[in-house]
Amino acid sequence: MDRALLAERLAERGEPAYRFDQVWRWTAGGADGYEAMTNVPAALRAELEREVPFSTLAVEREAEARDGTVKTLFRTGDGHPVEAVLMRYRDGRRSLCLSSQSGCPLTCTFCATGHMRFGRNLSASEILDQALHFRRIEEVDHAVFMGMGEPMLNLDAVVESARCLPDLGITHRRTTISTVGWLPGLRRFVDEVEQPIRLALSLHAPTDELRSELMPVNDRYPLADVLGECRRYVELRRRKVFVEYVMLAGVNDRVEQARALADLLDPKMFKVNLIPYNPTGMFEGSTPKAIAAFKDVLDRARLPATVRLTRGRDIAAACGQLAVSAT
Ligand code: SAH
Repeated sequence: MDRALLAERLAERGEPAYRFDQVWRWTAGGADGYEAMTNVPAALRAELEREVPFSTLAVEREAEARDGTVKTLFRTGDGHPVEAVLMRYRDGRRSLCLSSQSGCPLTCTFCATGHMRFGRNLSASEILDQALHFRRIEEVDHAVFMGMGEPMLNLDAVVESARCLPDLGITHRRTTISTVGWLPGLRRFVDEVEQPIRLALSLHAPTDELRSELMPVNDRYPLADVLGECRRYVELRRRKVFVEYVMLAGVNDRVEQARALADLLDPKMFKVNLIPYNPTGMFEGSTPKAIAAFKDVLDRARLPATVRLTRGRDIAAACGQLAVSAT
């Protein structure tokens, strides 16, 4: 729902100020459409139906994995594909993985999204409508900007949408923005965004040399600068930064590399999340044994580390698997 358009139409009709809140409260609470909004006059509901599309995205396809993960393919009004994921955990957590762009202009070698055609930045409404779609299925409590795209290339829209998430049940402390370390956006995020939104960094390598091989963006914004910005975030916000590290067999999973990682990251500032590689055709994933040995080194260095639970792999909904051949 385009909230600015809604506000404009209501103002044009001379509606009282509380109308906006009424409509938005129903929407954020998971209503299926305007007709459900029983405290809004029927004539107004009919007009909104015509003038303010209930969603800026059309659902094209939806699949549910054996573990309960739901992946939805949407289309924007001008035909760009967007995927988003609802992850269901046994402890009851419901986490949304949201996309900030259709496709991604960066070309990380291990990520399927980087191999599809880049479309464009999504608007705040298009990001919010992904979340609202899942809110209509069930209650939700976490969100990660880890779907398609690089959030720091579209920071304003990402933050504008994130600001509305508490109305859907997702507090800022349960909202995480993940980045490759796109410095201009990251700097602004650290300096300007006051909400206690969490930060995750896709690191994947302990040295510039290897990181540049895996993630060409590293040539532009090297490790030292990106980590410096993350430290600034920790100092200003008093929250740790999550470091994502996808485990690639024989590439970045050796014990020496774990030691280098432990030397690089201050345990007071960073928490590492080791991600089992989800097949995209280019690499081999590390064995569970190699992941355990890697984690062991981090544990001994007292660098907090967890292994990410893989969700939705059988429907290609897992990290790095979101990709659509744009038609
Ligand atoms: N562009 C941002 C947001 C996307 S987050 C970023 O990269 O941080 C998606 C996460 O999944 C990133 O940490 C990414 O590196 C990771 N990822 C990409 N491809 C993967 C794969 N094939 N297997 C596991 N994780 C992958």
